[in-house]
Amino acid sequence: MIVIFGFRARLKTIATGTFFCPRCGADRGYLLQQARRWFTLFFIPIFPVSKPIGDQVQCTTCHTNFRPEVLDAPTSEEFSENLRGAMRVASIAMLKASDPHHAAARHAAIAAARETGLEHYEDAWLANDLEAIGTSTLDNYVRSLATGLNDQGKETFVAKVARVGMADGPLTPPETELLDSIGAALGLSAAHVRGILVTTAESPAPGETAN
Ligand SMILES: [Zn+2]
Repeated sequence: MIVIFGFRARLKTIATGTFFCPRCGADRGYLLQQARRWFTLFFIPIFPVSKPIGDQVQCTTCHTNFRPEVLDAPTSEEFSENLRGAMRVASIAMLKASDPHHAAARHAAIAAARETGLEHYEDAWLANDLEAIGTSTLDNYVRSLATGLNDQGKETFVAKVARVGMADGPLTPPETELLDSIGAALGLSAAHVRGILVTTAESPAPGETAN
């Protein structure tokens, strides 16, 4: 009788969860799998002969394998949550840099928050945020968006915050300074920010007629 033996890598699932699959371009389930070499007899794994030799993450939808670092990226859900938080903190910072009681500026801040998915954001909520939100965390919030937003997304973000500042008249130096720091945290150059502000000042706010 011929005894056929050998070795083969075998994967064991050690964790599951939700991640952003770069292949699917969406949030998906994943399996975190650990590979070990096993001794096989007649192609049947008998016992492991090595320590774990590496982990991989497999998408349960497209079955693509990724390195474990893929789990470091936020899911779409987490990213949307960051975006909502950053927009609120940025709008509040802008209101504080100008006139927090100006009706049109508050209206622009509410519109900006609603556009990120907070449909029920309204003036009482804004009043609460003005009291509760410190603006010292703004940089961290905005920086967390830098890798997830493309250039267009960054421009839209800066433009929405700029509209809050422009609602009560042309931008003042403290308002411009704030927009510069937001742009810098997003990785945009000062010239790029300047361009966005010029375009935003010339174009009507969403909801206004364009003629
Ligand atoms: Zn996938």
